Amino acid sequence: MAADGSPATTHPQNVCFTMHGIGVSGGIAIGHAHLFLGMSTEVDHYEVASHDVSREQRRYDRAVREVRDELKELAESVRHSAASELAPFVNVHLMLLEDAAFSEAPREIIKEQRCNAEWALRTQLDELTAQFDDIQDEYLREREADVRQVAERILTALAGSKRLFAIKPTRQDADMILVARDLSPADVILFREHPFAAFVTDMGGATSHTAIIARSLAIPAIVALHHSRTIIREDEIVIVDGTQGVLIVNPDRAVLAEYRLRQNQARLEREKLKRLKSAPAATLDGTQVQLQANIELPSDLDAVKASGAAGIGLFRSEFLFMNRRELPDEDEQYEAYRDVVEGMKGKPVTIRTLDIGADKALDGAEHPAENPALGLRAIRYCLAEPQIFNTQLRAILRASRHGKAMILIPMLSSYAELNQAVAAVERAKEELKVEGVKFDPFVPLGGMIEIPAAAIALPMFIRKLDFLSIGTNDLIQYTLAIDRADDSVAHLYDPLHPAVLSLIAAVIRTAHQAEKPVAVCGEMAGDVSLTRLLLGMGLRNFSMHPASVLAVKQRVLTTSLADIAPAVARIMKADEPEKLVTMIEKLNA
Ligand code: PEP
Ligand code: MG
Repeated sequence: MAADGSPATTHPQNVCFTMHGIGVSGGIAIGHAHLFLGMSTEVDHYEVASHDVSREQRRYDRAVREVRDELKELAESVRHSAASELAPFVNVHLMLLEDAAFSEAPREIIKEQRCNAEWALRTQLDELTAQFDDIQDEYLREREADVRQVAERILTALAGSKRLFAIKPTRQDADMILVARDLSPADVILFREHPFAAFVTDMGGATSHTAIIARSLAIPAIVALHHSRTIIREDEIVIVDGTQGVLIVNPDRAVLAEYRLRQNQARLEREKLKRLKSAPAATLDGTQVQLQANIELPSDLDAVKASGAAGIGLFRSEFLFMNRRELPDEDEQYEAYRDVVEGMKGKPVTIRTLDIGADKALDGAEHPAENPALGLRAIRYCLAEPQIFNTQLRAILRASRHGKAMILIPMLSSYAELNQAVAAVERAKEELKVEGVKFDPFVPLGGMIEIPAAAIALPMFIRKLDFLSIGTNDLIQYTLAIDRADDSVAHLYDPLHPAVLSLIAAVIRTAHQAEKPVAVCGEMAGDVSLTRLLLGMGLRNFSMHPASVLAVKQRVLTTSLADIAPAVARIMKADEPEKLVTMIEKLNA
């Protein structure tokens, strides 16, 4: 049994086999599998026979020894390196490991409860972290993260795999393929500092935030593989075909050669697309189209610049709030927003206010809601936490004087919410005025249309907003009642569902009538196979991952609005899925 509770079904060494999942980020990667087990995953619980208790304790001791050796080696390697400031952290981990809380207590739990080592460790960790809740001292409270990390290291050693984020980057990181049961968006965002070639997970849906970040990092990824984590061995050679959603384990020479060839072809394609970087995005009939980029962190700016995007259509600000205990204060946020606004040199930067909740939880958040996607998420969360909202609005407003900032409110569903959001912006402006702090008084305020209620009752929202942005990821999730992160319903997630298409078309139409700019910033905007359809619906502003901008531009440049109009009108009337797919294929031919 694997530590995450699933059966450890290994295969004969070096046997080639294929697994199928959902390709969520295109491209091909070839590399060595690296198994990842986080403490966030479920830990299996099973009983240990009384005569096996000391064997289980020895298994635990062995894992602790292994972690000790690993940490000592790490301490040695960072001491004289550029990362020498990490040495004290490694030493804290070593000290914790020697403490009876880790070296003795779990052994006692194994004996008393006659349970497996993973369960004993988990029980002990729960005990330790509960004690942290009562500690006032800031420094000591921060040690909780260290305690967790030490526990994670031991758990990973128990599972027989190396740790994910070894502080010391290993030589082969760049060709490592991460194999995980599941990864949170917070896990994936850390990849920026650890250049993995690709990742695959057993769980997850195509538009989960984890998948979205993979696309924005432009690394191939497959989700919903179901058993990869338990079947694949550490270090096995794997090919990840993120476009087809195919994972090939232990490929033979011929297969490897074929995929290397495809990899090269894709690289050449990308090189060719770079020539379009400074070409204006316009259709064959001369209509200008805005192609903007989505970002998660200020460090994405380089990718935005390389893509030649006309601005930032969506800055998912919540990623500034993740992987940390303390929320960023006003100054820290201001600096992050200012860097982006300044970096874009007068091009628009649409900063979405905190969209926390659902699959993007804050560290140390309260118990997850029963149904988080329908719970206190996004603007609902911000209105329930006015201080956090106010801090963010002040920071964005302060940054607005350095360029062209725009504020975007996510997940609007009711008029009252919109009014409260508008009032919160006004209050923040008032405060800054009184304090004599400079900001752009005309900073535009937009709303995300991602809940069917907002799309249907659009006139009531549009009056108070300067612009709209359609979040198709959530619009699809909420229209079709499909959890976008749940692989068991991923096959039902359908951007071409007639209900979805007619909502998008209606929003674009209503916005045009009201003369308000409207964009699409969900994943549909970066899907080249949908570019012509959206153009035909009247969309002129797309925001997507930087990595998709040039491919979408190429499609825009080869599209005649006059030519596609009749086909798009037919598609909008079609309601048989197979016919629809054929019609879209024709539209793109
Ligand atoms: C969307 O829902 O389409 C969107 C762009 O927002 P997010 O994916 O961050 O929920
Ligand atoms: Mg959304």
